[in-house]
Amino acid sequence: MQTHFTEIQLLDPQVREADAILRKCVHCGFCTATCPTYVMTGDERDSPRGRIWLMRELLESPDSVSSDTGIHLDRCLGCLACTTTCPSGVDYHHLIEIGRDRLDRQVRRPWADRLMRRMLVHVIPHAARFHLMIRLGRIGSLFAPVMPERIRAALAKLPRKPPRFDRVGGRTMRFEPRVKAIRHVILLAGCAQRALDPAINASTIRVLNKLGVRVTVRAEAFCCGALAHHIGEADAARSAIRSTLLAWRDEIRSGAVDAIVVNASGCGTMVKDYEHVIGDDPELKDIAAQVAGLTRDIAELLDELPLNTIIDPAPEGRGVVAYHSACSLQHGQKIHDLPVSLLRQAGFEVRQPLEPHLCCGSAGVYNILQPDMADGLRRRKLDNIRDTGAPIVAAGNIGCIQQLDGEIPVRHTIQLIDYASGGPPPA
Ligand code: SF4
Ligand code: SF4
Repeated sequence: MQTHFTEIQLLDPQVREADAILRKCVHCGFCTATCPTYVMTGDERDSPRGRIWLMRELLESPDSVSSDTGIHLDRCLGCLACTTTCPSGVDYHHLIEIGRDRLDRQVRRPWADRLMRRMLVHVIPHAARFHLMIRLGRIGSLFAPVMPERIRAALAKLPRKPPRFDRVGGRTMRFEPRVKAIRHVILLAGCAQRALDPAINASTIRVLNKLGVRVTVRAEAFCCGALAHHIGEADAARSAIRSTLLAWRDEIRSGAVDAIVVNASGCGTMVKDYEHVIGDDPELKDIAAQVAGLTRDIAELLDELPLNTIIDPAPEGRGVVAYHSACSLQHGQKIHDLPVSLLRQAGFEVRQPLEPHLCCGSAGVYNILQPDMADGLRRRKLDNIRDTGAPIVAAGNIGCIQQLDGEIPVRHTIQLIDYASGGPPPA
């Protein structure tokens, strides 16, 4: 794509980065077919190609930007399906971040939108606050019919029965294997996940300990910063990232850590990108690069360990599971077949729904900020899952689990592997 930035505009590093990305796009349109929002609306401005065009306009001629630009950029899920499809290697991931940042600086959002974003960023990344909100949400649900649409959508996403609060991550903890440890990893306990489903961290620690892995969780690493980063709350994102990096720094520098393991793929994609997010910050850039290099999704770590040694025999097989491939795992981290292969090693028959590349509509807090589009994608995904005939679904991200769980139970892949290695059956 041709760009026409002035020399003065190109002095801005963000514009230079965007220029290099934009110039890679050859406008072929292959990405449109796999973009969930384009599939739903058929509007070119809801496709990656259309958004790339809008972002070029936004950056080149900021004064002529129309209100439509914000609508179509906000509708992007950030699912990164376009990056998997694009033959030219267009880095849409970082382009949309620049586009959104520019838009937020140029166009003031309506007060209700700003208020909602502020509330989300001050509650969800803090597990104890979020857990309290889930409990209070049951009372709030009684008044849902008279509440604004977005609040109704947020309340509808809260679990009907408040889960037990996950103590893992509440303070710094170390979980030792019964045998001599062969590896030492740091686990990111997560924020929303701790409030929504404590069984996921419990299963992760149990399986890793059985495989001879020592697991450390640090309380100061309370959130990866992804939620705030993706909705343009830069200060909150930076504060969470800084706290996490400093919490891990000494142990990593001592050479005692083999990997940082993340069991929520949305967080994993963020942590693997820390070097880019932190940029030139002199205090954090070295540790950000080290952390990014050490980070593994739980599936990647299990693939490096002798999983078959802990799986209980199941001569008749363990039953059928549908695998839902979270966007942050398949597009963000390019991990798609690995969890399927691990589930098969654990004795499950794995079926994959049609349109595996399409997002389920969760996308962080997208299902709260864009409830109609999110609900349409959710229904489409559930139809495809139903067609597999599987009685249970495995997924590697708490956002997808929360979005899809219901009529057919959805559990984390690690919970099924835990069960196959003698752990409790997933609830
Ligand atoms: S597939 Fe890549 S090169 Fe083609 S239009 Fe989409 S982003 Fe541009
Ligand atoms: S990130 Fe997803 S929703 Fe956004 S343009 Fe790419 S494919 Fe479409």
